[in-house]
Amino acid sequence: MIVLLQVDNLVVNYGVINAVKGVSFKINQGEIVSLIGANGAGKTTILKTISGLLKPQSGKIIYQNKEIQSQKAPKVVAEGISQVPEGRHVFSGLSVMENLQMGSFLERDRNQIKQRFAEVFDRFPILKQRKHQDAATLSGGEQQMLAMGRALMANPKLILLDEPSMGLAPIFINEIFDIIKEINQQGTTVLLIEQNAKKALSIADRGYVLATGSVQMSGTGEELLANREVQKAYLGG
Ligand code: ATP
Repeated sequence: MIVLLQVDNLVVNYGVINAVKGVSFKINQGEIVSLIGANGAGKTTILKTISGLLKPQSGKIIYQNKEIQSQKAPKVVAEGISQVPEGRHVFSGLSVMENLQMGSFLERDRNQIKQRFAEVFDRFPILKQRKHQDAATLSGGEQQMLAMGRALMANPKLILLDEPSMGLAPIFINEIFDIIKEINQQGTTVLLIEQNAKKALSIADRGYVLATGSVQMSGTGEELLANREVQKAYLGG
């Protein structure tokens, strides 16, 4: 197995608040890895630190054998890591196509951009249908697809998904998880953060359970789903 990303003893503070307290985990190339844990466990903070939006107090983030914890966000995107933020954050007032275009802001080659549009429209036919529509008029599920499509426009090796199922109707939740699996099967490695631990672990190769800034447990998705402690704390029984 090739390790794509290794997070090593990561510590992240907000002023005096110690949000991430020495977290270590790794993601092998081709995997879906899920971080689960309650509100405030530090999941979003970890993603933002990988993306270069936050600077860690200490620890390392090693991506493709290179330390990236001091790199700025655009450089991290250029290296092949794209984040889909919690709450989607699509640009309202811009069309679906304009939103997607934002995702390829680093690409200069017009043919590449065209190719990526074709791939994203192929993956999300609904976005093609609505390509001239204002992003704000899309449903929650469609906005999630748009946010994912926007990240894919950067042609990432690793996609970071922050609570993709949050606030969606059950029918959309299943669809989003199916799409995550498909994206992964087509060669993109996935780091998935979810409150919906059951769904996340059921598609994950491996998972890590976070509590108040620390990794409490790790295992394969199956192992964690079968674990009594995990069931009690995160799977509703
Ligand atoms: P959620 O699911 O609510 O996003 P999370 O597991 O992603 O939870 P984080 O958002 O990473 O957790 O938050 C970790 C800790 O850091 C929490 O105690 C939170 O209150 C704190 N925190 C998060 N953002 C900030 C901030 N901008 N300023 C101060 N404290 C923050």
